[in-house]
Amino acid sequence: MRASQAQTRLRIGIDLGGSKIAGIVLGEDDAILASERRAAPQHDYAATIAAIAGMVQALAQSAGGPGSVGIGMPGSIAPGGGVQNANSTWLNGKPFASDLEACLKVPVRLANDANCFALSEAADGAGAGARSLFGVILGTGCGGGLVFNGSLLDGPRGTGGEWGHNPLPWATADEHPGPLCWCGRHGCIERWVSGPGLEADHQQQTGVALSAAAIAAGAALGAADARAALERHASRLARGLAHVVNIFDPEVVVLGGGLSQLGHLYASLPPLMAPYILAHDTSVVIKPPRWGDASGVRGAARLWP
Ligand SMILES: [Zn+2]
Repeated sequence: MRASQAQTRLRIGIDLGGSKIAGIVLGEDDAILASERRAAPQHDYAATIAAIAGMVQALAQSAGGPGSVGIGMPGSIAPGGGVQNANSTWLNGKPFASDLEACLKVPVRLANDANCFALSEAADGAGAGARSLFGVILGTGCGGGLVFNGSLLDGPRGTGGEWGHNPLPWATADEHPGPLCWCGRHGCIERWVSGPGLEADHQQQTGVALSAAAIAAGAALGAADARAALERHASRLARGLAHVVNIFDPEVVVLGGGLSQLGHLYASLPPLMAPYILAHDTSVVIKPPRWGDASGVRGAARLWP
């Protein structure tokens, strides 16, 4: 029994989030053999490494053997191996992959959390069977990941699929130059279409601070200000997505993150995008995620074949 378990291909996936670390073990048939969840250490790099190592060890023990290790994380890995653009800022500039490998004594693959989301939804999620997919996480930020023929498109700079810090395309006069972004530029797509972007726009237009969920609830009850905010948001999201579609021409776009729960988007985005689509066929398939937040760990496990 033990010998046959040892021969089973196990893939450990870890999703390092801002406040929690989640982990799973995927077995040969993609069944989840074990799972774990812990609070993520804050502002402590060494403790973050130790927490991940502890989780990998516990998962391997529960699943009955060691496995490959894939990790989804905020930000991305720069060509020199250092972390860049992570909102868990204590990771930035650190040689995260080599430090983890030194601790775990196995090779580790790291990918941006939006890339893990896209990979998971393309493998057996909302985009299963599609040749090309753009996965988008609309949460506190707006990440993106591109999958083509089952593989992530991640280039030499480690930022493939990152669309959030391009400027909002086809901006109107009153959207220009747009709000200042943490990246130092004005009018980034992320500052308009993320959860905080929606909330900031609503507050700017109405003087009332509401959460994205409260805006959605208000709109459902017929509040005109909330409806108008969601309409502006959908228009901006449509333009942002249209410019990616014109470049990458994905078979399917899958939305994830908190704002993927805004059910109106799936019907309203395609016609809003149509005027900006270069192709004669302007229809674009926009889908909700199958796995949702769980795509972070599932995609991380799938970083190894
Ligand atoms: Zn930016």
